[in-house]
Amino acid sequence: MELQEFRRRGHELVDWMTDFLESIEQYPVKSKVAPGEILSQLPSRPPESSESFDTVFRDFQDIIMPGMTHWQHPSFFAYFPANSSPPSVLAEMLTATLGAQCMSWQTSPAATELEERVMDWLRDMIGLDDGFQGVIQDTASTSTLVSILTARERVTNYEANEHGLPRQSPLTLYCSSETHSSIEKDAKIAGIGRENIRFVEVDENYAMIPERLDEAIIADLRAGLVPCCVVATLGTTGSTAVDPLRSIGEICRRHDVWLHVDAALAGTALLLPQMRWMTDGLEYVDTFVFNPHKWMFTNFDCSAYFVRDREALTRTFEIHPEYLRTAEGRLVNNYRDWGIQLGRRFRALKLWFVIRTYGVAGIRDRVAKHLELAAEIAQRAQDAPDFELLAPAPLNTVCLRYHPTDIENTETLNALNEKLLETVNAGGEMYVTHTKLRGNYTIRFVVGQTNVERRHVEAGWDLIVRTARSLDTSAAKR
Ligand SMILES: *Cc1c(COP(=O)(O)O)cnc(C)c1O
Repeated sequence: MELQEFRRRGHELVDWMTDFLESIEQYPVKSKVAPGEILSQLPSRPPESSESFDTVFRDFQDIIMPGMTHWQHPSFFAYFPANSSPPSVLAEMLTATLGAQCMSWQTSPAATELEERVMDWLRDMIGLDDGFQGVIQDTASTSTLVSILTARERVTNYEANEHGLPRQSPLTLYCSSETHSSIEKDAKIAGIGRENIRFVEVDENYAMIPERLDEAIIADLRAGLVPCCVVATLGTTGSTAVDPLRSIGEICRRHDVWLHVDAALAGTALLLPQMRWMTDGLEYVDTFVFNPHKWMFTNFDCSAYFVRDREALTRTFEIHPEYLRTAEGRLVNNYRDWGIQLGRRFRALKLWFVIRTYGVAGIRDRVAKHLELAAEIAQRAQDAPDFELLAPAPLNTVCLRYHPTDIENTETLNALNEKLLETVNAGGEMYVTHTKLRGNYTIRFVVGQTNVERRHVEAGWDLIVRTARSLDTSAAKR
């Protein structure tokens, strides 16, 4: 493609992108295609000769767009937000245009130094103390893996990297039974082994019970195992629970066990001073992750990972082949040594654009509004005679279900709520997803879209209520 055409197409695409964002509410939130429908429209072989940009873009509109679920739709209340914003998208265009690899200082000094600066900003914005240093990883899954690997090296005195894991005294990892599935995946990858993960019991609010954690660590020590790492969660995915950091931290300190905090979604809420109760006990925390790519208006990927012991981190990941040696050495950060990937995208740029364009107050106001709207939904669910809350809702996720007073059977309620979820999603006006809490089918209503307004949330709630009350429950009652 000649640059003249690039210029013209670029302008056309930005127009298309703006039109799309302006009219996004006219699209169904959840794609309505059937499995295989997109694949069957794509040729099994790549074109041998050049196709015009018009043809490619027409196929994007005709084939790809119908198969998209619209995460930027203001009535997207499913899974978790992956909210984006115009400044983030514009910065991403620059990142792609520059196409730099940001693995060491020398491969783009500005990328490294901007990352260092915005990660300090971000740390201060969410109230972490300046004992932490930050680095951008691709996802929370990776950040947690990086933490577990660092904990593994620390507890084995950096022997596991050299000789592999010790057979005779396995390492153990602790998390609550409500922890995100990525923790189990990471522990497996790190060589801990699934059978050495202790899923600690939770209380009635789905938060880890510290006494159970203490008991589990003591039992493992007695059995000759080596407690390696505790993962505490702020804002569990299913139940939005907040593990009690201070008590957990005291236990970790007493047994000298590494403490990682997974705040992938909830970390953004720490922008608000009134939410800082979640990080009481921060002084015990070794590493902390949250995802600006979820709830901080920065498009995927951008996971903010903070570490206290930077030496332990780089000692775990450092590798020095001759072709990567540079004269600056230790004077600068070489982020290839701060994680798993060698090649790295210039992700700090979009964070910088977002933070400066909205200002910290602008971001905070939006997040406060999301929390307020979520609290209203929780209140409505609590007040409605035929709905109930299935977990406390301290954050932006509301766990609820339809529960007509004359139906008590769990299986029946589960089937009814599954039907409710399917019906509201099929209409395309909104999208919610589910989980199971103590065996109960639970609808999760998550408020976090960049442009979500009260009207979207109210329309979503009304649709759920209306649909629920129109479901045929006669079979259920018989
Ligand atoms: C979303 C989420 C994750 C996974 O995040 P990725 O960035 O997609 O890996 C992990 N933990 C919690 C609590 C989450 O909400």
